[in-house]
Amino acid sequence: MSGVVGAVGGPKAAACGRVRVAPGGGERAVSGGTSPSLVNTTNVADPPSDGAVAVSGAVPEETYDFASLRRERYVLQETARSLLPRHRVAGCLWHVSGVSAVVEVMYSKVCERARYRSLMTCGSVWACPVCAARITEKRAEELRAALAKNTELGGSAGFATFTVSHKHEDSLQTVLEGFLASFRYLTSKPSYKRLRARWGVRGSVRVLEVTYGRNGWHVHAHVLFFFEGKHDAGDVVGFEAELFPLWESAAARHSLTMSRERGVQVVLAYGTVEDYVAKYGHGPRWEVPREMTKGHIKRGRSVDGLKHLTPWEMLAFAAAGDVRCGARFRECVEHFDGKAQLGWSPGLRASLGLDGDPPESDHALATAGEKDDDPAGEIQRDHWPSVRVNGGRARLLQLVEEDGGDFGRAAAFVAARVAARPAVARRNLDLLPPEIAAALPAMHAEQTARNCWRGAAPSLSAGEV
Ligand SMILES: [Zn+2]
Repeated sequence: MSGVVGAVGGPKAAACGRVRVAPGGGERAVSGGTSPSLVNTTNVADPPSDGAVAVSGAVPEETYDFASLRRERYVLQETARSLLPRHRVAGCLWHVSGVSAVVEVMYSKVCERARYRSLMTCGSVWACPVCAARITEKRAEELRAALAKNTELGGSAGFATFTVSHKHEDSLQTVLEGFLASFRYLTSKPSYKRLRARWGVRGSVRVLEVTYGRNGWHVHAHVLFFFEGKHDAGDVVGFEAELFPLWESAAARHSLTMSRERGVQVVLAYGTVEDYVAKYGHGPRWEVPREMTKGHIKRGRSVDGLKHLTPWEMLAFAAAGDVRCGARFRECVEHFDGKAQLGWSPGLRASLGLDGDPPESDHALATAGEKDDDPAGEIQRDHWPSVRVNGGRARLLQLVEEDGGDFGRAAAFVAARVAARPAVARRNLDLLPPEIAAALPAMHAEQTARNCWRGAAPSLSAGEV
């Protein structure tokens, strides 16, 4: 992550929500961008020199190339297919929808991206790495717009993290149900509503997350509070101090405890939120293996990076053959499926001038195309089974993108696949970029050394999927 942030502009930002920003190109650059982990929200970036809240809707530069990220997502999705054969993720972008005779390939010249149409799409933000990336990209786009608008209206934002204490023995069901019930109770309390009114909270956005580590399942929520007025870092410490006892007593009703230090943390939304929004939902934190292979990573950083596994990281270890991680991923999907990952408080979208209340569903976002999508080519339904295996889905889209929407090489790729008829699927691990596949055993050994598994160390070769 370069940490360099510039102002958003140009048609790509408007149409695709992602833009590569030239270093130094922004009128309001912020520091930050070095957070190694989504769950590390304690690093408060230095405020910008003009004292303004630097959440102007800017997007950090993309660190890795999109084609490589997509290839990884498709591989992980195939792992999810193996782990959850009866879940809708198993058919996502794999089966042709209805009676369509062809699989259409669309290309957007503005976004320089290709995608499939007429395939089934699962729209699961918890089970499907491909849909989750698309959904969260759109949601992040909206969050940026909301933050920018709030700043424009003279407001500021606080980024809060709510946690509860948990033990390795606690089941996910126990932790999740307790956490959600506590949160519902908190938000229904008159004292909480009074606190919001006193602090001029215009509204809030809540994101639900889960990781797995030494002390078991770590269910937590990030809440972005939109304040109507300008608050500084000192103010939000006061807000946190008033919020903590309310959260503590709400959790106590459901027999949950917390430390003062970790129960709730609120920081002013400078670089921290931008880091979070940019990385939110974006697959495993591959920074660790990528930097490991570049040879300039400190060991402490890599250990820290693996303190908690995200569901996508569990899926990656499952792809490498760790059956226990596969089971954890399944458990995670079983309990989170159907739950909203992100929610807006009523009226906030309207007060910030955003469309839709409630906003579009996850499934609608997963299937939505770009505004200027045009048909680039099509694949016969009969040919699709030969194309889709062994990383073919990502490869074909990459060819179309590399050629600016021309389908010539993609058609040759389809013809070659059909002629070769690849019957035996390669191992998912072999389809990952080599630096990731090579680094996974070391990451896994580190995780095991941290005693996250409490018991016999799971084998990387026992259950390849
Ligand atoms: Zn999907």
